[in-house]
Amino acid sequence: MKNQNKERNTRAVKVKKIMIGGGFPVTVQTMWKKPLEKIGKTLLKEIRELADAGCDIIRFAVPTIEEAALLGELQAETEMPLVADIHFDYRIALECMRQGVAKIRINPGNIGDENRVQEVIQAARDTATPLRIGVNAGSLPAGLRDEKDIVAAMLKSAEIELELLEKYGFRNVVFSFKSSDVATTINVNRRFREQHDYPLHLGVTEAGPRIPGIVKNTAALYTLLSEGIGETIRVSLSADPLDEVIAGREILRACGRTVKGVNLISCPTCGRTTFPVRDFYEKVSARLNALEKNISIAIMGCHVNGPGEARHADLGITGAGKYALIFKKGEIIRRELIENAYTAFIEELDRI
Ligand code: SF4
Repeated sequence: MKNQNKERNTRAVKVKKIMIGGGFPVTVQTMWKKPLEKIGKTLLKEIRELADAGCDIIRFAVPTIEEAALLGELQAETEMPLVADIHFDYRIALECMRQGVAKIRINPGNIGDENRVQEVIQAARDTATPLRIGVNAGSLPAGLRDEKDIVAAMLKSAEIELELLEKYGFRNVVFSFKSSDVATTINVNRRFREQHDYPLHLGVTEAGPRIPGIVKNTAALYTLLSEGIGETIRVSLSADPLDEVIAGREILRACGRTVKGVNLISCPTCGRTTFPVRDFYEKVSARLNALEKNISIAIMGCHVNGPGEARHADLGITGAGKYALIFKKGEIIRRELIENAYTAFIEELDRI
């Protein structure tokens, strides 16, 4: 469903059931952080958890033909669109497309002579597979590496790729321009969007561990998304993919975008705290992530300020001595011993 958000009009690119651009809601991506393995229950469960948390697309590094086959098998088992990240070997891209993988991240400039590029483009056309062209500040082609103006160099690199794709009339493409620098990320995406209507995949690359990584990504992505720039996002972190997805989802929420699922409110805790806010969150987070309801949930540390400060929450919990208080819209509806808090809270959650 298209939404009323302020994305500028771009081309729409179809990645299996997901649309990128064309005024469709901004999507959230992450990248798998382990080598591809045989499909088992654990792998599918992890993909489901990412989907529950708001992940729309998952990318996998595919360094060998064998892994292309594994990714194809996995794609056949899940509705989640899977993207193959390929460097240099065009045969792996061809195999992934043959295997029905949803999208390919590749740079035509990396795959050798034009005949190979043409073969990849033909396969992408035949299988309706979109390509993402990822321009990274840290891996520009040799002729552009020493440019002083990094934004101009990145744009030039994209123009070279674009020329090749457009020569063969191929426009089923998403672009990304990534840098570990926030200002560069903002500027290069703004300038590309002034010139082209291809959808943009946003992200700050090599952004660091959780906290610095989330801060850098939020600064860049909030700025761009608020200007209507960016059709899909990935918050890359030296952390779990689930953290990347949750961070991406919350950035969209902060931008006022409609995102499915729970809006979580929790207090920072202080000397008045009598409720184990962090532990309780850890315990309920999987349930909250899986909830499709658009509701606000509050986990607060004390009854003095908790219910009042979270009076807009649809459901909340806080502590009062050895008791947990459960409240709705600021009104206390239930009192239980702390050890029974989880069960009582889940009962009330199911009633909403
Ligand atoms: S809600 Fe209570 S415990 Fe939490 S920060 Fe405020 S005063 Fe402290």
